[in-house]
Amino acid sequence: MAGIGIALSKGRILAEAAPLLARVGLAPREDPERSRKLVVATARRDVRLIVVRASDAPTYVQYGAADLGIAGLDVLAEHGGAGLYQPLDLGIAACRMMVAVRRGFDYARAVRQGARLRVATKYVHVTRAHFAAKGVHVDLIRLYGSMELAPLVGLADAIVDLVSSGQTLRANHLVAIEEIMPVSARLIVNPAALKTKRAQLQPLIEAFAGAVR
Ligand code: ADP
Ligand code: MG
Repeated sequence: MAGIGIALSKGRILAEAAPLLARVGLAPREDPERSRKLVVATARRDVRLIVVRASDAPTYVQYGAADLGIAGLDVLAEHGGAGLYQPLDLGIAACRMMVAVRRGFDYARAVRQGARLRVATKYVHVTRAHFAAKGVHVDLIRLYGSMELAPLVGLADAIVDLVSSGQTLRANHLVAIEEIMPVSARLIVNPAALKTKRAQLQPLIEAFAGAVR
């Protein structure tokens, strides 16, 4: 496709990326939050936004269906990052990926005793790698949302989820016990597009870098 496509998700990423998009001259022509359109024009005729699920952004960029994208490090770590150039931390949508358990659950003791922990998460690859590195045995339960519910109803001993204020954890009688990684959203680029469309993409990447500063 001619022109440049930028894959990003509605919700938190779009809300926090909107000021950056405006600063680099890419304000959407209609609000993706309210429009049903999945391809949205911007202030620049040659650049369009491609509205995807947060976890799908790396895939669209990897296959070149979008030239650029905005994705959280959580999603990138889980995706693996293959076929993606990641030139820039946008510093938005900041939070932490953490292990959390029900208040009162003795995690240290369970680990010491070598018990198999049941861990619910949507980040199964990252979670498996994290516990393998610690030598903790886990049974992973893959969920697609509301991880906080799992320990409450006995589905899991622990969850791996994103935490910012901690309010959701507190409201559900959970405590964060271990940080896996700090998370923020990154600009991602299709490497082949960077070669074939360098004249358009390089200045855009630099404009984003300037807008972050
Ligand atoms: P979804 O529910 O489809 O995953 P969200 O808008 O909740 O969409 O999350 C999209 C991205 O926003 C996540 O991949 C992460 O990078 C970031 N994010 C999610 N939760 C938080 C949070 N509590 N604080 C800051 N950023 C977050
Ligand atoms: Mg969410």
